[in-house]
Amino acid sequence: MTGNAKSAADLTDAEVKSAADKLLSLVGGSIATYTEACLRCGQCAEACHFYHASGDPKHTPAYKLVPIAKAHKRSVSPLGWLGLAPKVTREDLAEWEELIFDSCTMCGRCTIVCPMAIDISSVVASTRQAFAKVGLGPADLREAADNSRDRGSPLGLTPEALEDRIEWLADDNELDIPLDKDKAEVLLTVSSIEMMKYPQSIVGMAKLMNAAGADWTFSSVGYESTNFGYLSGRGDIARTMIERITTAAEKTGAKTVVIPECGHAFGVMRWSAANILGRPLPFEVLHITEYLAALKRAGKLKFKPYDGSLTYHDPCQISRRGGATEEARYLLEDFATDFREMTPTGNRNWCCGGGGGVQAMARAADLRHKVFQIKMDQVEKTGAETLISSCANCRLTMDESAEHFHWDHKRDSLIELLADHVIE
Ligand code: SF4
Ligand code: SF4
Repeated sequence: MTGNAKSAADLTDAEVKSAADKLLSLVGGSIATYTEACLRCGQCAEACHFYHASGDPKHTPAYKLVPIAKAHKRSVSPLGWLGLAPKVTREDLAEWEELIFDSCTMCGRCTIVCPMAIDISSVVASTRQAFAKVGLGPADLREAADNSRDRGSPLGLTPEALEDRIEWLADDNELDIPLDKDKAEVLLTVSSIEMMKYPQSIVGMAKLMNAAGADWTFSSVGYESTNFGYLSGRGDIARTMIERITTAAEKTGAKTVVIPECGHAFGVMRWSAANILGRPLPFEVLHITEYLAALKRAGKLKFKPYDGSLTYHDPCQISRRGGATEEARYLLEDFATDFREMTPTGNRNWCCGGGGGVQAMARAADLRHKVFQIKMDQVEKTGAETLISSCANCRLTMDESAEHFHWDHKRDSLIELLADHVIE
């Protein structure tokens, strides 16, 4: 499906029928199976930041797939065979789209409390693919995916723009930032959010890699680690983005691909890339916090202590779903002299509200802002001066929401803070 796909509200009656029939045949059966397994115990409700913030029953995790499952059941019942079951309407499609895209960040918090271990996040990911196949989904996500395929990144970071910006950052900071080295042990990737909005985090990564004496490079063949193909349900674009990084790593002979401060980029590359590609990856995939923690353990990175008080926001795809909860804390050990954990924290931390592509959806802003109040409350309760994280998408969500609320709490990136204190 191309970027010419429409929102449900713009479909003709014939298109509504065709989209609904195809959608139900693609995913209705598997969703019905999941909803059958659900005990209706309601334990997941309070685990979901969207329900916690809105109090609206439609935002409970268990409900997210129920309307589609019900329509599927009707369609395969005797009334459905006779063509007498109630029709799926334009409004139904719009409601399903909102449930699957706008009000799920695929954070996985509901799964850890579910007695049936129902993985709503994975079901939402496959349902998004079905939506994309029938031409539905938020326009901003489709556009971001198209840009990734056609221009190299969702924010227009073409290979030429990458080269220009690296040259500029290297000159401005009198720093060696290698691009397209013939051979390197480590391929470092970027998130275009960082390159376009937080360029100091690129400088920070380069500074830390150089301080540790790593043999590394960026590549203009495969540099963008965010994967809007995956987030928008566009499997072909998800694969293209993974292939670019894989080709770049194979070209340079890199044994390790390092994902920058971006949660979903890490999740896709670490856990889904080999399946999407259909072959094992010929390299190890590490999040930047994992890679730096390994360098610190090996005695290759040392830091001057940081005096202020800090609290750390665990990005869902790095901690809860990524398995790298302790690495950030190890990096902070002996560095942050006054580190204060949030409550809850680690694998149970609340999502920032912008994961799963929700930050990129303009129409989801009101709900996202409501969710961010949970984070502001968590941070305020720690009394820490500065909130840090290791995901550029969380950072963007926090900055945008903080601006909305005129919340002037200090925020920073873990990598930038470490780079400012590294002993060279
Ligand atoms: S994965 Fe996260 S956002 Fe989605 S339903 Fe579960 S708790 Fe809510
Ligand atoms: S916790 Fe699991 S079983 Fe209980 S309502 Fe939620 S999805 Fe269903």
